[in-house]
Amino acid sequence: DSSYPLERIRADFPILAQMVRGKRLAYLDNAATTQKPRAVIEAISRYYETSNANVHRAVHELAERATTQYEGARDRIARFFNAQREEVVFTRGSTEAINLVAYSFLRPLLKAGDEILVTGMEHHSNIVPWQLVAAERGASVLAAPVLDDGSLDFEGWKKLLSERTRFIAVVHVSNTLGTVNPVAEIIREAQARGIPVLVDGAQAVAHLPVDFAALGADFYTLSAHKLYGPTGFGCLLGRRERLEAMPPWHGGGDMIKTVSFAGSTWAEPPYRFEAGTPDMAGAIGLAAALDYVEALGLEQIAAQEHRVLEYATPRLREIPGLRLIGTATGKGGILSFVLEGAHAQDVGSILDMEGVAVRTGHHCTMPLMARYGVSATTRASLACYNGEDDIDQLVAALHKAVRLLRS
Ligand code: PMP
Repeated sequence: DSSYPLERIRADFPILAQMVRGKRLAYLDNAATTQKPRAVIEAISRYYETSNANVHRAVHELAERATTQYEGARDRIARFFNAQREEVVFTRGSTEAINLVAYSFLRPLLKAGDEILVTGMEHHSNIVPWQLVAAERGASVLAAPVLDDGSLDFEGWKKLLSERTRFIAVVHVSNTLGTVNPVAEIIREAQARGIPVLVDGAQAVAHLPVDFAALGADFYTLSAHKLYGPTGFGCLLGRRERLEAMPPWHGGGDMIKTVSFAGSTWAEPPYRFEAGTPDMAGAIGLAAALDYVEALGLEQIAAQEHRVLEYATPRLREIPGLRLIGTATGKGGILSFVLEGAHAQDVGSILDMEGVAVRTGHHCTMPLMARYGVSATTRASLACYNGEDDIDQLVAALHKAVRLLRS
């Protein structure tokens, strides 16, 4: 589509201008992390150059400026996801957000024999925290089956619901397959039974609009770095009444109301869950990333990624011995595949020599690899700056890999 300003967008991302291995860079590893537009890099630099101070503490001018910008970022993030500002808890990313819910919300409720229902396509960060608290309490983690095309077996998922189900966790968009899960239906089923739900939105938020209030999930998690923002920062969106009922997780400065040796009292959410000096630049960087995405339009980005996906799919299918894993209808811009007779690692190295950055491995979804009987895939994943030319470069490099690895 000639109306999509691809070249202008690319010019916004300084890192994309370079050559790697003497070749044009085709960055197709966006499900691992996205690149950062100049607006985000500059917002972070500007913060350190003009406003850096610790927040919530001092009365001096810089501290006031830092606090205003940091809390302003929370307002910005809340507005983007249609959440209340008290519902936005800052974390280091999705992983920490999920652990927070596992330890602060679920662990105190969990009893022997309880079940936590996840799906077979979860990222390890939406499996292992549940296993840790389940093991402590004699509870178990059940995984709903995944169909051959990479979609959730929703009937199979429903069959696993029972009076033992204490908690439901589901990935919104699979980082390995691109599958978009029916989270609205899952939440409806859960609510009908009074079971709390966490949605892992790490792979979703840069690709589809999320309205936290309308969705109705109890918890929703995201990582800034997969949304054109900085690494090591993210959010837990939590329903206000849930957060208010939860005990603190980490103890320290900023999360208390009063401290005495007779006992301490806790601040209100979200501060109750934000012990210590926070990542001010992280919050400001994410807010800048949301401004950037909003200016481009998430729908426009999604449409471009869809076009590129549609362009890529038949071309990949033409490569001899290539098997695409994850072909569910309506999936997001992720192409996971195996090349018959070749190790993903070798494929990745050959692609790298051609300037094509992809991820090879299990993508932190080992149970999903087992489901498809593979130990690894090669994964190309899209973002707003990808075009058909990136796919042409990928496909040419794959033909080369086939020649080299099968000769
Ligand atoms: N869930 C999904 C679906 C992911 O893709 C990722 C990151 N690749 C995570 C969770 C973990 O996010 P982070 O590493 O930013 O904590």
